[in-house]
Amino acid sequence: MFTDGDPRLGRLLDGIVRLASGELHSRIEISDARDELDAVIMGTNLLAEDLQIIYQELEDRVESRTQMLNAAHLELQQMALTDTLTGLFNRSALVSALKAAQAEAADGGLPPALLLLDLDAFKSINDSLGHSMGDQVLAAVGRRIQSCVRDTDMVARLGGDEFAILLPATKPAKAAAVGNRILDALNGTLDVDGKTIRCGASLGLRIADPGETSEELLMEADIAMYASKADGRNKLRVFEPAMLHARQLRNQLVGELREAISGSQLVLFYQPIIELATGRIEGVEALVRWQHPTRGLIMPDEFIPIAEETGLISELGKWVLKASVEQLRRWRTDPETKKHNFTMRINISAADLQRLEFIEDVRDALSSADLEPALLVLELTESAIIQGNELDRYTLASLRKLGVGLEIDDFGTGYSSISYLRRLPVDRVKVDRTLLTALGSDPAQPALIAAIHQLIRACSLEAVWEGVETAEQAEHLRSTGCVSGQGYYFSRPLPEAEFTARLIRQDVWPG
Ligand code: C2E
Ligand code: CA
Ligand code: CA
Repeated sequence: MFTDGDPRLGRLLDGIVRLASGELHSRIEISDARDELDAVIMGTNLLAEDLQIIYQELEDRVESRTQMLNAAHLELQQMALTDTLTGLFNRSALVSALKAAQAEAADGGLPPALLLLDLDAFKSINDSLGHSMGDQVLAAVGRRIQSCVRDTDMVARLGGDEFAILLPATKPAKAAAVGNRILDALNGTLDVDGKTIRCGASLGLRIADPGETSEELLMEADIAMYASKADGRNKLRVFEPAMLHARQLRNQLVGELREAISGSQLVLFYQPIIELATGRIEGVEALVRWQHPTRGLIMPDEFIPIAEETGLISELGKWVLKASVEQLRRWRTDPETKKHNFTMRINISAADLQRLEFIEDVRDALSSADLEPALLVLELTESAIIQGNELDRYTLASLRKLGVGLEIDDFGTGYSSISYLRRLPVDRVKVDRTLLTALGSDPAQPALIAAIHQLIRACSLEAVWEGVETAEQAEHLRSTGCVSGQGYYFSRPLPEAEFTARLIRQDVWPG
C-alpha cells in the first residue's frame, strides 16, 4: 500500500498523461521499494512498450501501404498514357505532348511536326487472318515505326490501325525524311507468327502553325493522310490549306449524295452486250449516273468511291437493283420490245457481299418483277471477291443457289490466277478493256487475246470482251472464237428512252 503524498503517485499520473498524449517512448521511474505501486508503474511501462511496438508496426504498415498506393497510382498514370496492345503511347499522351511541344515553340523554339499514319490493307488482314493475328500485326507495325524515330520522338497508336508520330522541334524537310523512312520500313514484309505479311501505309504530315490546338493539328494531319490515300496509297502528303477546301466539298457531296439516293436523282444508262457472231443483243449493263440539280450529269467514278467509303453504297445498290429489274420487266412485257431476249447486268460492290440481306433484296426484286433469277447477272470486280472472307463466300454461294448469274468484272487488271478462276462460283468473266486497247498497235496482243480466251474456256467459263470500239476489234475477237462483246462500237451507254427506241428500231448491233 502506498501512503498519502507518495511522490511516485504524482510521477505515475504524469507518466500516464504523457503516454496518453502520444509520447510512447516515455517511461515512469520505478523506486527501490518494489512494492505494489512499483508493480503498477512497471505494468504501465510494459503497456507503453507494447503500445510503442504496435504503433511502430502500424507506422511501418502505413508506410509500405503508401508506397504501394503510390506505385499503383504511377502505374495507372502510365496505363492512362499507354496503348496496351502495342505498348506505345495513346491518344491522350500524344495530346499532352503536343500541347507541351506547342508551348515550347511559343517560347521561341521550332514548331513540332505531326505525322499521321493509317495502314492500307489492315481490314483485309483482320478479316482474312483473324483478330489475334491483326493484333500481332499492329504490335509489329508499332515496333517498326519506333525503330525509325529518335528517342525524343513520340509514337502513339490512336486506335484501330491509326498511328501518330510527334517530332518535337523538327524542320519540314527532316520530318518528311522521317515519314519516308517509316513508309519504306512498312513497305517491306512483316514476319508475324510465322506468316509473311505485306501491309503498306498512307501518311499525312502537318507542321504546326503557332497557336494551333492539338485538335486542329490532328485534324489537318488526318486530312493530309486521307489525301495520300486518295492519291493511291503508300505515299506521304503534306497538309495544304487547299485540302481543307477539298474536304469541305467532299463532305457537301456526301450530304447531297444521300439526298440524291432517296430523292430520285439517280438515273440508269444502258449499254448492250452483243453476241459477236450474230450482232444480237444478249445482255444490257445498267450503269448509274447522278443527275445533279446544279452540276448536271455526274459519272459513277466520281461518286461510287465516296458511296463506298461512307456506306451509302448499300442504299445506292438497292436502288440500282430494283430500278434495273423493273426496267427489264417492262422491256420483256412491252409488245414493241419483247421480241428481244436478254439479261440485265448490274454492278455490285464488295460491301453488298458483306450484307446477308443482300440475298433477300435480290430475291425480292426478282419476285416482285416476276422474273427468272437467271435473267439477272451480277458483275463483281476481282478485288471485291479476292478480299474474300467467310461472309463473301456464303453470299456468293447463296446467290448462286438462287440462280442469278455471277460475273467477274474488269478481269485482267488484278489478281487473276487460274486456280482462282476455277475456285470462284462464277459462270462468266468480263475481260477488262485495257486488254483490247493495244490490239492493232502491239503485234503481241493478238496472241495474248487468244491465250486469255483459251484460259477462260479451259476453266469452263464464258467471256465478255469489254471496250470494243472499232469494227476491226469486233472482227478480230469474232475470228478468235470469242462469243460476246461490249463497247462504244456497238453502242455507248444510253438513257432509257433512247435505248428503248433502239430496241424497237433494230434487231442487230451496231445497226
Ligand atoms: P465498269 O463496270 O467496268 O463499266 C464499264 C465502263 O466502261 C462504263 O463507264 C462504260 O461507260 C465504259 N465503257 C463502255 N464501253 C466502252 C468503250 O468502248 N470504251 C471505253 N473507253 N469505255 C467504255 P461508267 O458508266 O463511267 O462506269 C464506270 C464504273 O462505275 C463502272 O465500271 C462500274 O465499276 C462503276 N459503276 C457504274 N454503275 C454502277 C452501279 O450501279 N453500282 C456500282 N457499285 N458501280 C457502278
Ligand atoms: Ca461492269
Ligand atoms: Ca469493266
